[in-house]
Amino acid sequence: MRVFDPHIHMTSRTTDDYRRMADAGVRAVVEPAFWLGQPRTNPGSFADYFDSLLGWEPYRASQFGVRHHATIALNPKEANDPRCRPVLDLLPRYLDKDGVVAVGEVGYDSMTPAEDEAFGTQLALAREFELPALVHTPHRDKAAGTRRTLDVIAESGIDPGRVAVDHLNEVTVGLVRDTGCWLGFSIYPETKMSPPRMVEILQRYGTERVLVNSAADWGHSDPLLTVATGEAMLAAGFTADDVDLVLWRNPVAFYAQSGRLDLSDLPAPEPSYAGSSLARGGS
Ligand SMILES: [Zn+2]
Repeated sequence: MRVFDPHIHMTSRTTDDYRRMADAGVRAVVEPAFWLGQPRTNPGSFADYFDSLLGWEPYRASQFGVRHHATIALNPKEANDPRCRPVLDLLPRYLDKDGVVAVGEVGYDSMTPAEDEAFGTQLALAREFELPALVHTPHRDKAAGTRRTLDVIAESGIDPGRVAVDHLNEVTVGLVRDTGCWLGFSIYPETKMSPPRMVEILQRYGTERVLVNSAADWGHSDPLLTVATGEAMLAAGFTADDVDLVLWRNPVAFYAQSGRLDLSDLPAPEPSYAGSSLARGGS
């Protein structure tokens, strides 16, 4: 099994996690810029963070043979802080860089006017820089938040095939499916979305335009839940090719739209990766 995790916050993971992921078949990751827990008080703090996503993390990942790309944005939560708004002016400098494969995470947290403005501005930047967009949907009031998200995407004029709407669940997948946007699912250990629930969604809605990620942020999370989802798919009767589509070819196709995805010289997965990777990898 080869795995591309299209949304994982490696900044919050240990170097041992990189090793466990590589052992389990994770060959490539995309790390979206997000909220770091502690409020940031000035744009310079973001610049250092963005530089870390484009410098230090790819280096740390490369030591384990994992390819690392990033998405860059002012996240929805901090869009509400006037001290952070000037970050929007920094973005063009970063969206020009090679390791950046999308604008993100953008979208809504609490659905405030400030979030509206930052979301619209950043979708326009995605169009200007010809990048895909990774869109976070709020964890509270999810259906209303997702509907409003889809309205803003439609109004922006961005091609829906260049947008991934993330953190979907059984309630919101049907809203997004017919829009042409990609369907993102974050798998968590206990809440929100689990491997068995993901398998049921795949059985009902199919594998087309589906992206599965582990998110793996500061909260309780597990960077091997992509692999666990692949194994749950196999156990439920999906083929190895289905798993490869969802866990590798779909995310590659989505981010390749940036023209910057570099997967050259990645070592081929060893045959043993197809086996009981969870048993070896822990989790
Ligand atoms: Zn995230």
